[in-house]
Amino acid sequence: MIESVLIVGGGIGGMSAALALARQGVAVELIDSDPHWRAYGAGISVTGISLRAFDDLGVLDEIRELGFIGAGIRLRDPTGNLIFEAPVAPDAPLVQRGGGIMRGVLHDILATRVRAGGIQVNLGVEAVGYDDGADGVSVRFSDGRQSRYDLVVAADGIYSRTRAALFPEVPPPQFTGQGCWRIVAPRPQGVDRTEIYTGGPVKLGINPVSATHVYLFILEHVPDNPWYEPDQQLPHVSKLLEPFGGDVPAIRAGLGSESLVSYRPLEWLLLPAPWHRGRIVLIGDAAHATTPHMASGAGMAAEDGLVLAEEIVRSVDVESALQAFTARRFERARMVVENSVRIGDMEMAGGNQMDANRMLGDTMQRLAAPY
Ligand SMILES: Cc1cc2nc3c(=O)[nH]c(=O)nc-3n(C[C@H](O)[C@H](O)[C@H](O)COP(=O)(O)OP(=O)(O)OC[C@H]3O[C@@H](n4cnc5c(N)ncnc54)[C@H](O)[C@@H]3O)c2cc1C
Repeated sequence: MIESVLIVGGGIGGMSAALALARQGVAVELIDSDPHWRAYGAGISVTGISLRAFDDLGVLDEIRELGFIGAGIRLRDPTGNLIFEAPVAPDAPLVQRGGGIMRGVLHDILATRVRAGGIQVNLGVEAVGYDDGADGVSVRFSDGRQSRYDLVVAADGIYSRTRAALFPEVPPPQFTGQGCWRIVAPRPQGVDRTEIYTGGPVKLGINPVSATHVYLFILEHVPDNPWYEPDQQLPHVSKLLEPFGGDVPAIRAGLGSESLVSYRPLEWLLLPAPWHRGRIVLIGDAAHATTPHMASGAGMAAEDGLVLAEEIVRSVDVESALQAFTARRFERARMVVENSVRIGDMEMAGGNQMDANRMLGDTMQRLAAPY
């Protein structure tokens, strides 16, 4: 019987697990090493599986109000001419829709629910030692405190320290050869769904994140994995946007020192099954970090939290709950990670965006099955 859970990491995965467990009556404590508990980056695309998971967590109304929910996708050539528009039934179910939201807004929606849900939140704290026994895990914290839990859920992200401690044999995340720029801008009229500009020197996308704003993402082939100082970022982005037409020139002209621009090299990691050792289990990016080509990392992390809570309630002991958890999650995570990396490889090899789009469509269809 699991009555008390420590969650290490308050990102999308950790907060989803906290909400799903707390509503089953489990006493949940959540720690995050960031004393300010912020979300970094600009906007985030939310695919159908993310929307379904957020609905199951009970936060869809806030996402609809403060973010953007639409449907379909448009492909454009670099000059802005329409190449293809995916048809979408007006009554398409949530899992076939998509949208976007500012990362900070999504974080605040989930964090407000966590605080309102009676979950104890301790910030600026890390777990520095685990004593995993038959009756529970005794955890030592960086603030000198020590406490015991029936289960520890590590949702501490792609560079998970828990993973490094528990699975030292697993290699670190691997760089794919691409870097991702994200830029927030006012929403051009007519951008009512994700638009991808393909066939240019870089892949560019525009995604609404609210009634008033979009975020642009640019995937750049950067085999040398460069580092960009903050003062180099805006000039670099402006240069990358230069060859594009459509709505891009107006967005480019509006960029300035106050614009939100962020850069991340793309990396991936898939932890071999099982994702637990004793009473400590990994979820979210800590277990399966993917590139943004399927925009499904957030949905996968949220689903992890929901599935973990279901298996904990259903199973008779910790070991069978955690075995069942990985059994339900591993193949799904493998498909997302491998197909995302494959699409990036196709892009770097100069492949046809329609092939990549087909793979994306097939994967999305399979992900739409119940999690
Ligand atoms: C460039 C880029 C673009 C992306 N775009 C999208 C997108 O459009 N759509 C999408 O769905 N996904 C996207 N993703 C993936 C998505 O961001 C992740 O899959 C998702 O955030 C994973 O959530 P998480 O909770 O597992 O980890 P994280 O969001 O990384 O959260 C980890 C949390 O743990 C905390 N933490 C870290 N270490 C410790 C520690 N030692 N102790 C305590 N706390 C700790 C951190 O402060 C953080 O709050 C993108 C990823 C990248 C790199």
